[in-house]
Amino acid sequence: MNVLSLPEMEHKITIAVDGFASCGKSTLAKGVAQALNYVYIDTGAMYRAVTLYCIEQEVDIENAEAIEQALNALDIRFKTIAGKNTTFLNGRNVEENIRKMQVNNRVSEVAAVSAVRCTLVRQQQEMGREKGVVLDGRDIGTVVFPDAELKLFMTASIEVRTQRRLLELQAKGQTVSSEEIAQNLQHRDHIDSTRADSPLKQAEDAIVIDNSHLNQEEQLAMCLVLAKLRGAS
Ligand code: C5P
Repeated sequence: MNVLSLPEMEHKITIAVDGFASCGKSTLAKGVAQALNYVYIDTGAMYRAVTLYCIEQEVDIENAEAIEQALNALDIRFKTIAGKNTTFLNGRNVEENIRKMQVNNRVSEVAAVSAVRCTLVRQQQEMGREKGVVLDGRDIGTVVFPDAELKLFMTASIEVRTQRRLLELQAKGQTVSSEEIAQNLQHRDHIDSTRADSPLKQAEDAIVIDNSHLNQEEQLAMCLVLAKLRGAS
């Protein structure tokens, strides 16, 4: 008797990676997305793109209404270029510019504006509608996808995070002191965790990963096991 086997059904899940600044969220999220053939969504890049626009167009960042108006003029998209997730703002590649200190220094203020969050969260939910996505950010497991099958909350010591960010910026040719970086990380974490609208906090059902002493391979392996346990294929 011939037994016909049905092709194995794919089961796509949603993976939320939240946590403090410079905890290696994006490295882990990208690695998991690649291993599972999922789509990676860098939600921080979207808040950074809005901030870059405000800086370049001299929109007053202290004025929530002015920022809200600016949102109508914004088109943020991701494209893969040479295998890398790349952010486009109104058709222009801004991947490098959104990572600079001038954006680091203002992004948390812009991200605290409710109209900005409302617009970007809606776009993120649309992008992840079909599942098979890994998103990293601050409110993914709590607000954007509260029903995500796997939620991770990343943390690491401030010393480790500062050192990682320093090496990253130096590799890009940016001159910045470790004091400036540590200050910026703590400043952003403070604003992100204390803002009124969707503050950074651990979802009740999130798994905490302190990666101060874990390398990238160890984190990826751990996360892939968790994803499989939650039904990812
Ligand atoms: O993840 P990344 O460090 O690029 O995020 C930059 C900033 O964008 C954060 O410090 C935070 O203020 C904001 N953000 C947010 N919600 C997200 C992602 C980022 O408020 N989901």
